[in-house]
Order: sequence, then C-alpha cells, then structure tokens
Amino acid sequence: MQNIQSNIDKLKAEISAELKRLGRENEEINLVAVSKTHPVEAVDIALQHGIKHIGENRVQEAMRKVPMISQPLEGFHFIGRLQTNKINQLLSLKPFLIHSIDSVYLAERLHRALGRTNRTQDILIQVNTTGEVQKNGVDFENAEELIKKIADFSCLRVRGLMTMGLFDPDPEVSRKYFRKLKTIFDKVRADDTQGFDYLSMGMSHDWKVALEEGANMIRIGSAIFGARD
Ligand SMILES: *Cc1c(COP(=O)(O)O)cnc(C)c1O
Repeated sequence: MQNIQSNIDKLKAEISAELKRLGRENEEINLVAVSKTHPVEAVDIALQHGIKHIGENRVQEAMRKVPMISQPLEGFHFIGRLQTNKINQLLSLKPFLIHSIDSVYLAERLHRALGRTNRTQDILIQVNTTGEVQKNGVDFENAEELIKKIADFSCLRVRGLMTMGLFDPDPEVSRKYFRKLKTIFDKVRADDTQGFDYLSMGMSHDWKVALEEGANMIRIGSAIFGARD
C-alpha cells in the first residue's frame, strides 16, 4: 500500500510526458483509478494523493466500499457488467458515470429506475471492438444504432464510448481496436449537442497506445494499486 503514492506520481508524470509528446499537453485526461479487489484503505490513500475518480466493476463490492470512503471523491465510476437486479443498488451510490451500457434492454431498465427517482444518469456505451465472445459490449456494427435508440431515453445521457482492448502483454495488438472505436466516436460527436465527450479506453498495460489513438479517459487498476490476487 505504501507504493500507491509513488505509483500515482509516476503514472501522472508518464501521462504528462505522453501528452506532451502527442502535442496534447493542454488536454485534460480523465484518470479513473480502478480499485476493484483492493480495500477501502487503499482507495483513501489514492484519494489523498491526487486521485479524484475511482472505478469498481461489481455492484456488491461497490456497495461495501464506496460508503466507507473517508476522503473527498469527485466521481464513482461503474465499469463492470450491470445486472438488472442490481440497478437500484447501483443508483443508490450516485455513480458519476456508468461505462458499461450495451443494450436497449439494459438502458430501458436503467431509464425506468431513474424515472422513479427523477434523476438523469450519465452513461457510456460499451463497444465490443475485439469481437471476443466473453466480452461485454455491443458489436461494433450495431453501436451507432444503439446510441441513436438510447438517445430516446430522457433519463439517460450518453456521454461517450468505452471499450477494452485485448488482454495481451503486447499493447500494440489493441491499437486497431482503439482506432476503430475512435472512428465512431468522432462521427457521433460531430452531430452531438449533448456532451458526447468521453472516450474511455486504455488500462494499465495499454493506456499509452489508447492515448495515441485518442482516448481521453483511462481506467487504471494494477499500475496504481498493485497486482490483484
Ligand atoms: C479491471 C479493469 C480495469 C483496470 O485494469 P488494470 O489492468 O488493472 O489497469 C479497467 N477497465 C475495466 C473494465 C476493468 O474491469
């Protein structure tokens, strides 16, 4: 745990250097620290050392941890598969952004739950760019149509797109998938008036490639908190 601070310092310095190299030094990159499996004490340490946004991928775990956080938190992000029977619990945590909406069915269930509370919720559409069967996300071919359909749900605001690259130690293998997602991101954003702003891609092993391909939100777990069991 004592390494969390130095991990964050190192990561932030690397992000700055990378942005400078890419001529994007004036841009703000949204850094989401993914704290899944790590104790709330680790989250507090990260929040004391410059992290403002955290991500969790299981509602049950988030329900245990998020209310125990004792440091100021700007945003809790939900980044995992969302089961419809967990929607109300998730909403009780007031997520800043839900990264993993990938069907009209899920969007509608979320919209209905929000309607009862009179709230709107910012979401991302998760796209399965790699086509792996075990991955969540709408197929690349159907992504634009899904975005259009979800625009009809008044309680949801689609703020952008999310994808996961391949779990391969070589980050270059994910470049083409990140590039693919950027093409629809730019296309949808060109006609947007509602704040379609976030391109969430890149994890500990491949965030540099994701930044090169235009990501402006990266989700970093092990490079901040250490390896998971
Ligand atoms: C776990 C996870 C991450 C972070 O993974 P690391 O490789 O530890 O950085 C990012 N995004 C999602 C959706 C995750 O589930």
